[in-house]
Amino acid sequence: MRNSTAEKLKRLLIEHSHLIEEYTAVACPDCTDVCCRQKHCLFREKDIVYLTALGKEVPVRNETLPPDGPCQFMGRAGCSLPRWRRPFRCTWYFCEPLLSALHDAPARRSRELSKALQKMADLYGEL
Ligand code: SF4
Ligand code: SF4
Repeated sequence: MRNSTAEKLKRLLIEHSHLIEEYTAVACPDCTDVCCRQKHCLFREKDIVYLTALGKEVPVRNETLPPDGPCQFMGRAGCSLPRWRRPFRCTWYFCEPLLSALHDAPARRSRELSKALQKMADLYGEL
């Protein structure tokens, strides 16, 4: 059961990553307060259940890095982890600039993304 929930969540994350990136591409390049800090790459219990159900290792978090410093997974072109392997909060978190980009997008696109995010949150909750 957990296995199929995890597989469905992974599929949704992969299928909708490009849609989320349409918004991050607008909001993130000029961001002066980047949210990807070490304290945010915490894999919570459900993230661990999810990755374990997929038979994947949980990325090891470096506890010695400063919590407010850049996230260890941050690369030159953004996060080095594929979206489906990130802590779920990294996908779920929408800052003000992202929400505003979502608000300015064609209604059909933002409805599609909101629906997918809700499905993801429901599946995450079921893990
Ligand atoms: S998601 Fe928001 S806070 Fe994070 S880097 Fe992009 S614009 Fe900045
Ligand atoms: S999206 Fe990636 S780089 Fe940003 S906080 Fe999450 S794991 Fe770290």
